[in-house]
Amino acid sequence: MKPDICNFFPIPDLFKTEHLLCIQPHPDDLEIGAGATVARLYRAGVNITWLTVTNGSAGTYDPSVNCTDLARTRRYETEKAAAILGANDLLWLNFPDGGNLPYEKARSSIAGAIRKTKPTAVLVCDPWLPYEAHSDHIRTGLAAAEAAFLSAIPYFCPENLEEGLTTHKVETVAFYYTAYPNTLIDASACWDSKLAAIDCHVSQFPPEKGKLLKRYLTEKAREQAESYNFELAEALKVLSPNHLHIFEPAWQC
Ligand SMILES: [Zn+2]
Repeated sequence: MKPDICNFFPIPDLFKTEHLLCIQPHPDDLEIGAGATVARLYRAGVNITWLTVTNGSAGTYDPSVNCTDLARTRRYETEKAAAILGANDLLWLNFPDGGNLPYEKARSSIAGAIRKTKPTAVLVCDPWLPYEAHSDHIRTGLAAAEAAFLSAIPYFCPENLEEGLTTHKVETVAFYYTAYPNTLIDASACWDSKLAAIDCHVSQFPPEKGKLLKRYLTEKAREQAESYNFELAEALKVLSPNHLHIFEPAWQC
């Protein structure tokens, strides 16, 4: 049985949202974690804004690669992927990639983006994914969750207001890369688009690596869809901001 808190604050329906702010720590995370969901929502008429937190400049094992060139390449790859999945706007915070994301600055910038674009829902990587070792992911997810929860309060990141922005209340927070999903999105009709968007990230996924990633994602999507009437699924944790503070059973919702 679900804990009471799941009914006390109902789980929002992502398809009833009007404007989704999709946040990714690095160029490519959104495509891998929720590409089919983004495509489905865009095709359903939801206004989609992409927000990329770091510039992806550390996405290489080759020390001879120029970081500025790599960041430029990854931005281009993201623009191509976004054109496939759907985007009304692309925003870039351009923090340096590589695990040194300054938490408070990132949180302020994400809160600023929320207060500027006024989304009804925020989609971001789950910062509570067990064994997640990349701090860009943990900090981006937590900063976005905190900003979604607190951007309605004028005393939270007041520097945004000094810049002329106004407070904003987000209704829904959805997490990809989650270990505690409560919402399965039918990804079947948009799966090819998701894989094509991943293919845009040539700098990250040379053919063999890309093939393996896509095979893993497809097998997982098939397994997740098994008890439903669809073929492939993306699994998300969808909550209201009310769930994001003091209610320990929220992870079970
Ligand atoms: Zn990443």
